[in-house]
Parts: sequence; C-alpha cells; structure tokens
Amino acid sequence: MVKEIQLRVTIQEEKRKTILIKKAARKLGVDEKEINAIKVLRKSIDARKAQIIFNYKIAVYINEQLPETSIKTFNYKDVSDAKEIHIIGFGPAGMFAALRCIELGFKPIVLERGKNVKDRRRDLRAINQFHLVDEDSNYCFGEGGAGTYSDGKLYTRSLKRGNVRRIFENFVYHGATDQILVDAHPHIGTNKLPKVVQNIRETILKYGGEIHFESRVVDFTIKENKIRAIRLQNHTEMIVNSVILATGHSARDIYYLLDKKNISLEAKSFAMGVRVEHPQQIIDAIQYHCKGERDELLPAASYNLVQQVNGRGVYSFCMCPGGFIVPAATANGEVVVNGMSPSKRNNFYANSGIVVEINAEKDLQKYNRFGALKGLEFQKDLEKMAFIAGGKSQVAPAQRLTDFVEGKLSTSLNSTSYQPGLKAAPLHNLLPPLIGSRLRKGFEAFGKKMRGYYTNEANVIGVESRTSSPVKIPRNENLEHPQIEGLYPCGEGGGYAGGIISAAMDGERCIEAAIQLMKS
Ligand SMILES: Cc1cc2nc3c(=O)[nH]c(=O)nc-3n(C[C@H](O)[C@H](O)[C@H](O)COP(=O)(O)OP(=O)(O)OC[C@H]3O[C@@H](n4cnc5c(N)ncnc54)[C@H](O)[C@@H]3O)c2cc1C
Repeated sequence: MVKEIQLRVTIQEEKRKTILIKKAARKLGVDEKEINAIKVLRKSIDARKAQIIFNYKIAVYINEQLPETSIKTFNYKDVSDAKEIHIIGFGPAGMFAALRCIELGFKPIVLERGKNVKDRRRDLRAINQFHLVDEDSNYCFGEGGAGTYSDGKLYTRSLKRGNVRRIFENFVYHGATDQILVDAHPHIGTNKLPKVVQNIRETILKYGGEIHFESRVVDFTIKENKIRAIRLQNHTEMIVNSVILATGHSARDIYYLLDKKNISLEAKSFAMGVRVEHPQQIIDAIQYHCKGERDELLPAASYNLVQQVNGRGVYSFCMCPGGFIVPAATANGEVVVNGMSPSKRNNFYANSGIVVEINAEKDLQKYNRFGALKGLEFQKDLEKMAFIAGGKSQVAPAQRLTDFVEGKLSTSLNSTSYQPGLKAAPLHNLLPPLIGSRLRKGFEAFGKKMRGYYTNEANVIGVESRTSSPVKIPRNENLEHPQIEGLYPCGEGGGYAGGIISAAMDGERCIEAAIQLMKS
C-alpha cells in the first residue's frame, strides 16, 4: 500500500536520519518495520516563526517496494528527412520549441546569433575583465540564450499556460538534478546550466535537427502576407515555411527590423530599477531569526518584497541568495545589471532586482513619438545614463542603500560581487523620479517589513532594466502574427514569457500551433 501524507519536521528533528519514517509510522498508525521506503514528493521551509519547520509531502510504501525510479523519457523521432521548421533564437523558448518539434516528427533548423556555451564563456570573461561587450555573444546572447548563465530559478506563475512538470522532467532528462521535481523553489544554478543546455543541443543534433551558431537573422522576405525567406548576416538566404521568432527581449535589432517593415508591434508595460546587494548573513539573520551563521541545514535565505508607491508596484525581482551580480549589457555604451547564483548558493552576497512598474500608457508620454518602441527607447536611455555615470565602461554606478534613500552621494561603497567594479554616483538624482523616488520610498517600506534590510552595509547598483520585454509582438488565435502567415512570435521577446519556464512552455505551444497549421 502507498499512502501520501504531509509532515512537519522541526529543524532539530531534521538532523535525525530516520525522522521521516518515525513520524510517518506514528501518523499512519503502522509499525516502522512495515515501512519499506519513503519518497519525498515536495519539500519547503517555513521560516515565518522562530521555530523553523520543514514541510514535507511524502509517499509512504507500506509492505510494498519502492518502484525502480526511472527518469521520464521523451519519444524523439529521427527527423533528418522530415519537413522543416525554422526557429530563430536558441534560448529556453527556442530550445524547447526544437525539442517538441522533434517529438512531433518535424525537423527544427535553429539559427542562433551567438556562440556555443563553451566559446561563449570567453566572451563573458571579456566583459568582466576588459569591459568589452560582443554584441552577439554575452550574458543574453548565445547557446541557451539568457537562460544559460542565468540563475536557473525555475519558478513560474504561468501555471495555466502549459505543462510545467513536463518542462521540469525534460530538464532532468537532460541532466538537471531531480531535486527540481521536489523543491518548492526549484533552482538549477549557473554552474550546472551550461551542461544541461549542451545536452539539449546534443539531443537535437542526434535526432536530425540542425543548429547554426553565429547566424544572426537580419531580414525577412514577406510576400502576400506570408513569410517566405530569412536572411543571415553573412547574406545566406533561407527559404522558409514556418518561423518561430524566439529572439528574446534584448534583440532590439529585431524590433527595429519589424518596425521598419511596418509589421505591427505594441508598447508593453514592464519594470525597471536597480539591483540591491547585501551580505547574505544579513538576509539569513532576518529570515531565520538567527545571529551569525545560519544552521547548516538551511539554504541561503531569500526574500520576496512588494510595496505599492504612488500607484505603481515596487517589488523584488529575481532574488539571488548566495549569488553574484553580472554585467548583462548586449552592446557597448550601456550598463545593465542582473543576478545569478551557483547551485550551492554559497557566495558571500545576496542580491535582488528592486524594480518599479512602468505603465506604458501613462508613464512614457515623453517618448510617445517612438510609438510602440517608446519603452525600448526609455530603457536605452537609462542604460546609457548608467554607462556614463559608471565612467564609460562596464563599471556600474552605485550608492550605499541608506545614502540612496537619504539622497546623498556615498563617500565609500561596500565590497561587491560585481566583477567589473562599482563607482559612487548619485543614482537618487540620475534615475528619473518615476523610478527613483518610488524606489526610495519602497526601500524605506521594505526596511520596516524586514528589520535590518535597510542598512548602509548594502549597495544599490544601476541599472536593472531588462526584467521583461518593453515591446509586444502581437499574435492571433493560431499564435501567428496577425499580419504575417507563418511567423510565430514566441517567448520573452514576443512578450509571452517572463522567465525560463514560461519561455520554454511558450516554445512548445508555438511549435504545436505551427505544426497543426502545417498539417491542416
Ligand atoms: C543573468 C540572468 C539571470 C536570470 N535568472 C533567471 C532565473 O533565475 N530564472 C528565470 O526564470 N529566468 C531568469 N532569467 C531570465 C531568463 O533567462 C529569460 O526569461 C529567458 O531566457 C527567456 O527565454 P527566451 O528563449 O524567450 O529568450 P532568450 O533567452 O533571450 O533567448 C533568445 C535567443 O535569441 C538569440 N537571438 C537574438 N536575436 C537573434 C537574431 N537576430 N538571430 C538569431 N538569434 C538571435 C539570442 O542570442 C538568444 O540566444 C535571467 C536572465 C539573466 C540575463
């Protein structure tokens, strides 16, 4: 017999190896000897009170053997000679579109402007050490997209948009830890992601798909409202039938190209702000009610903060416990920061984006002349401001948190995980009031919600500007662009995803829609 039950285990109890069996036996009224095995289905931590609790959902095998655990397999077909579908971009949306394409018996031809994960690493070093941004290979562009050297947090709020479990299982099939199937807040880690991405590439190639790196798409040929061909930067022209456009939210050249070709786009609300960095120990002390080191059984603590300020949400975004801040610009002349963490989350710092909602209709009047691209132009201006304030390199402008809120230039800054370095700058003045003044009030409120958070031991670093796309590429009920047959705007760049999982699910949906129309 197998019984599923919930258990609460204190941190002191958690240290005892057999605690789950003991508690399960007691709860189910059976002898411990009758329990052959226990499988953890879900695990989360409740640290709201001083007594920290681990909440478990487990399956208890009573007088029954635990079945052999097998990783879910996927029925990939040999598609070497199958009908082709072109996929532009090899981020999570493009990767999962290609995998699904193979499952459904079609051949994906992937075009990716960046390099493979290994070669891409060299370009990341060049950004960090020499402040040189390769415009085709950086933290956002290259094999695996922005998802490869990301944090690899796999939470999503888009539970209704697809089968989240399927995506998790596919990550496990391609080498991610099966712990992601259990944890309430699953996380792969930036050190593990490149191998998973490489395994996905190998599956695609093994079954007959094609992946072309360093192949930037620069133009489309559209005739009679149908996409007919795409052109690469090396002038290669490819005749196409269906195209999944999964180029991510940083591919500004794609938005400009679509706009130039009078292909309709829409301005979209998004969010921008700064990244805040604390010593992890401060966050641990607040969240786990401890002094000094956290208990060894506890992961680096995270937080999730939100506050309404003058009619707009100010909230934490992509919090990275035990992580570091990285330069995520995609061109020279701009500074963009983002965060990531290794699988063990054992770095000294905790960082998080703290961003303000930007309402595309109400907040960007000054940019109206740019039409659907007004958010993008606003974003660009902010990134340029950060570049200049940092001293025209990848050094980022920064301020101690308390100085930022009090409106003072910092005379010194805290140490940081941000490798290119920081320069003290008056971000409180440089950020437009619509962001800056709301952030300052937001931080004050956060300090009241989390005692100890508002401290001069934290730095505020600019700018966190690429939280989601400022542009939406519309699509109809078949997921095609309403004006162009065969063109499927997909993932974060289309405005249909806000993270790895939602982008992956959208990739699957778009390919299914394309195949359905090809078959009909
Ligand atoms: C540092 C960092 C940390 C992050 N951490 C997390 C996290 O922990 N959890 C989470 O859910 N999300 C995280 N994200 C966000 C996440 O990575 C994105 O939401 C996700 O990658 C979007 O997927 P996508 O496939 O839609 O686009 P992208 O990942 O942006 O991929 C688009 C791809 O298209 C390629 N491309 C662009 N233009 C062209 C062109 N013209 N021709 C050919 N190819 C082109 C790009 O090179 C890129 O590889 C993080 C992002 C960054 C930068």
